[in-house]
Amino acid sequence: QKQIRLKNRPLGTPTHEDFQIVEAPIEKPSKGEILIRTVYISVDPYLRGRMNDVKSYIPPFGLNEVISSGVIGQVVESQSALFAKGDVVLGILGWQEYSIAKETSIRKIDQNLAPASAFLSVLGMTGLTAYFGLLDIGKPKEGETVVVSGAAGAVGSIVGQIAKIKGARVVGIAGSDEKVKFIIDELGFDAAINYNTQDVGTALQETCPNGIDVYFENVGGQISDSIFPLLNNFARIPVCGAISSYNNEKADIGPRVQAYLIKTSSLMQGFTVGNYSSRFGEGAKELGSWLKEGKLKYEETLTEGFDHTIDAFLDLFKGANLGKSLIKVAEI
Ligand code: NDP
Repeated sequence: QKQIRLKNRPLGTPTHEDFQIVEAPIEKPSKGEILIRTVYISVDPYLRGRMNDVKSYIPPFGLNEVISSGVIGQVVESQSALFAKGDVVLGILGWQEYSIAKETSIRKIDQNLAPASAFLSVLGMTGLTAYFGLLDIGKPKEGETVVVSGAAGAVGSIVGQIAKIKGARVVGIAGSDEKVKFIIDELGFDAAINYNTQDVGTALQETCPNGIDVYFENVGGQISDSIFPLLNNFARIPVCGAISSYNNEKADIGPRVQAYLIKTSSLMQGFTVGNYSSRFGEGAKELGSWLKEGKLKYEETLTEGFDHTIDAFLDLFKGANLGKSLIKVAEI
């Protein structure tokens, strides 16, 4: 089987040279373990941070270590009473065609609720990030204006739709006209800004005539800088990500934001979805009901074939994906 290992710690934007695809044996499960055939792999921007040798909320990958992320797979052989051959499971597993997992580290998914891939997107990590970040920190109220960046991506596309469900006016910021059209026409955003062709500050003034009550931060950098002058009193800013800075070699110093926060009594709070792990069931249940009722849509960019996993990861930084980026390695 093939595995993808971290060869070098990327300097700046990662490239294929930072990874190595190697052949490795398929191992046998011991007692309490399961052999899983990889079906879908999730590629995520946060993995870039794990490639640096720095202390964070999650330990860095070691050099020569198999990269790991959210994976959906199918049980091939089980040495556990909890799992049977054919079960479809979810876990944090390696970028490889087959994995051995401990029975305590994976869980079964129910394909009657949604297609398997949805457990890595709208009902999985990125959907839950949108749900808890927006509702627990952003707390949008009816009639308020919510702005979200990275708006056509996995997290952003769900944030905007949940804000609509809560009765807010939603403005998305994304990187192409296709994405702008998609979030307005397909997802029901009220307005959208293409940050590559428009001046974001001017466009925000036009699209947010009543100011901004919630800014869901996915990208940081200059896009984020444009938000602060438009904040309303008691605005909330869930800081989810800052993808524009993940490949920076030097710290990116923007305008000082304290004065804006003080003068508007705004709240800016970082979070990781892991903070809400005890409430994942509650979040997935509500996201699932909205899906069923047709109030929530989700989009996935599926890249076919294990050999294209690295391409799909690198493409996140080029904005090639619409919705959640996943690799389809095999059929279920
Ligand atoms: P996305 O599906 O949104 O994919 C990344 C997108 O980021 C790209 O499609 C691209 O869209 C945009 N992007 C890339 N480079 C830049 C740039 N320089 N400036 C502006 N936009 C850029 O990924 P996710 O939804 O998985 O993640 C979104 C954010 O949320 C990331 O910052 C991620 O790290 C964070 N996150 C945080 C979590 C947490 O627990 N706090 C959990 C999950 C994600 P475009 O074409 O619009 O540029």
